[in-house]
Amino acid sequence: MAATQAFLAVGSNLGDRAAHLQRAVQRLQQVPGITVVRHSTWIESEPVGNGPPQGKYLNGVVEVRTMLSAMALLAIGKALEAEAGRELPGKHHHPRPLDIDLVFFGDQRIDRRDLCVPHRQWHLRSFVTGPLQELGVDTAPQFRWQPPELIETTGALAARTADWLAGDCTIGLVPTMGSLHAGHRSLIEIARAECDRVVATIFVHPLQFGPNEDFAAYPRDLEKDLALCRDGGADAVFAPSVAQMYDPAFCSHVAVGAAAEGMEGALRPGHFSGVATVVARLFALSRPHRAYFGEKDAQQLAVVRRMSKDLGFPLRIVGCPIVREADGLAMSSRNVYLGAEDRKAATVLHRAMASACAQFARGERDRDRLLARVQAVLATEPRATVDYVELRGRDDLAPLPPGPVLAGRLLVAAKFVDGKRPVRLLDNMALDAGASA
Ligand code: AMP
Repeated sequence: MAATQAFLAVGSNLGDRAAHLQRAVQRLQQVPGITVVRHSTWIESEPVGNGPPQGKYLNGVVEVRTMLSAMALLAIGKALEAEAGRELPGKHHHPRPLDIDLVFFGDQRIDRRDLCVPHRQWHLRSFVTGPLQELGVDTAPQFRWQPPELIETTGALAARTADWLAGDCTIGLVPTMGSLHAGHRSLIEIARAECDRVVATIFVHPLQFGPNEDFAAYPRDLEKDLALCRDGGADAVFAPSVAQMYDPAFCSHVAVGAAAEGMEGALRPGHFSGVATVVARLFALSRPHRAYFGEKDAQQLAVVRRMSKDLGFPLRIVGCPIVREADGLAMSSRNVYLGAEDRKAATVLHRAMASACAQFARGERDRDRLLARVQAVLATEPRATVDYVELRGRDDLAPLPPGPVLAGRLLVAAKFVDGKRPVRLLDNMALDAGASA
């Protein structure tokens, strides 16, 4: 078996820094299966990241040849860090007597929870690129991670997530139809905070649109969406064509029951079956541990929760709070089509529900009086054509009987027709002690 050429970045900013680095080189040389070829000069650099105030680093790069695997080399590096007195697991960006990162391991590309090779940030750190160049490494052709990776085929998505699963990563899925805004970004950020790898999907899904709906005119801007996914911290974006998702023989659909009755389900026949079908397909392809959906589309969230439970997908559905504009309007990809006057008028949805919420907070509990309050405020805005106003169970959205309501969710939908095209807006608000959704 041939030895692998590997490059390790070493650094120290506690104690006798040069002695720590020199000793690390000696100890590496003593490990059976590792030969130290040479190391760069040690250079001084400022600490990176948002750690506490701390001293400058001494850094360099060590070239080795090894018969060990990348994981074994990583483990040796961790053992030497511990030997130098570093507390492990180490805190990010905190001072340390010794830090050893694997930068390159032959031409292997490894994307595991505990190891990414090439190192994710090698090309952004002059204290790594400088010493590499000093050792004569041509850095130009070396692989750089530049998330998000754009994935366009179902096979590539399944392969990427299979790799992540094999590398012990937890996976978060954020399904969207693109034309992304801060609401979508919040979903990606929540997933980023909770999962090792995040994949956002962008698919304007024809099965979700009725014959007279806005499938063709739904706003699309992939470049802008990719930038937002990058800023939100997505590792990959799955943006397939319709043909990729559905081969010509495709004929299996998820039928949805009570959760899809009434409200959007009544006004958009077939819509939730389309949603459930594509979401089930995305779950099967990407096998996420968690999938993130906005409470903004509360009925969709209830349908997806039910579908996932009924079909037995082994994952957690996470509902995320509604992100609003400063004036209370819930962010939506369709808001761009509102005319200027309609845009101002559209805040009535939020105002109407907030007014009923305030009544609820003052002690009003009667279902019909709370609904009447929402309707009364909506009626003050002639530009809004109301599709429905409902007060349902807070999470399952089950119909509530007349009488007192202890906890629930107000849901409204209304049309505005004076802009570039007619726009239907949805919004909802939870009613419970201390409600603020
Ligand atoms: P869409 O692209 O409209 O299908 O939305 C994709 C996901 O983003 C869905 O789970 C939506 O509920 C969620 N979402 C859309 N708008 C918002 C918002 N203003 N706040 C939070 N989540 C949202």
